[in-house]
Amino acid sequence: MTSSNHECRRIAEWLGESRNAVAFTGAGISTESGIPDFRSPGGVWSKYQPVYFDDFMSRAESRHEYWRQKCESHDDFAAATPNHGHEVLANWEATGRLVGVITQNIDGLHQRAGSQRVWELHGTTREIACLDCGARFADEPLVQLFRESDKVPPCEACGGRLKHATISFGQALPVEVLREAMAASRVADLMLAIGSSLVVTPAADLPRLTVQSGGRLVIINATETPLDPLADAIIRAPIGETLSQIQDALGR
Ligand code: NAD
Ligand code: ZN
Repeated sequence: MTSSNHECRRIAEWLGESRNAVAFTGAGISTESGIPDFRSPGGVWSKYQPVYFDDFMSRAESRHEYWRQKCESHDDFAAATPNHGHEVLANWEATGRLVGVITQNIDGLHQRAGSQRVWELHGTTREIACLDCGARFADEPLVQLFRESDKVPPCEACGGRLKHATISFGQALPVEVLREAMAASRVADLMLAIGSSLVVTPAADLPRLTVQSGGRLVIINATETPLDPLADAIIRAPIGETLSQIQDALGR
């Protein structure tokens, strides 16, 4: 599967003439960094039964199960480094071609690649937050503590419930981040939706907002999405190589 050169040149032209281009990324941009996505075979959901937020809040057993799962996937995230796709997006922001990145990802790889403006709709797995007092901690020492003791560590500050700073099923999205992401999507004249199956709402509604306000939509994803009928261009090819081709076309 290779991306069509003609399509990449067309997208490069759109990017060249746009004033408010925004990228929207999902788990697919990080599979080339070795982090499995959710819905592909072998993805996270084929292994785990997710813990819902209400259960996490109310049941000690659920908190333990949540921590067990997070500690199992921890090393995949910890070892991952940004790939070419993340780097190209960071470069486009630095050179004024892209306003920023709205992401569903929790891996922090956009920031590690140098992206400055990242709206994390689902939070970050690189930090742990106290749900009772709001204190924040680095993930690594607490993950080690859980592994050694097999007990969910209490918040150092207040003794409260600690959870990775990601959004669980049944947990509200961060209001301010969502508000800003919606505003950026509305004013975007070009939206690049990259590596997302675009089935989770409200996140998947953001590219729709761009289309509704008259902007162009480009979808780069290996498989079909429900928003394909709205797209001005669709590329079904590996993300790293596609973004490189667009980058090359921009340079010409
Ligand atoms: P998803 O798993 O639903 O969709 C990923 C899409 O990317 C799939 O349609 C797949 O075909 C495509 N894809 C995978 N690798 C690709 C590649 N190299 N080139 C082109 N296409 C590729 O992911 P989603 O839409 O982001 O939704 C899943 C949810 O899971 C998100 O809400 C996110 O918070 C969470 N999640 C995050 C991570 C991460 O942070 N890296 C990983 C897994 C899940
Ligand atoms: Zn606390």
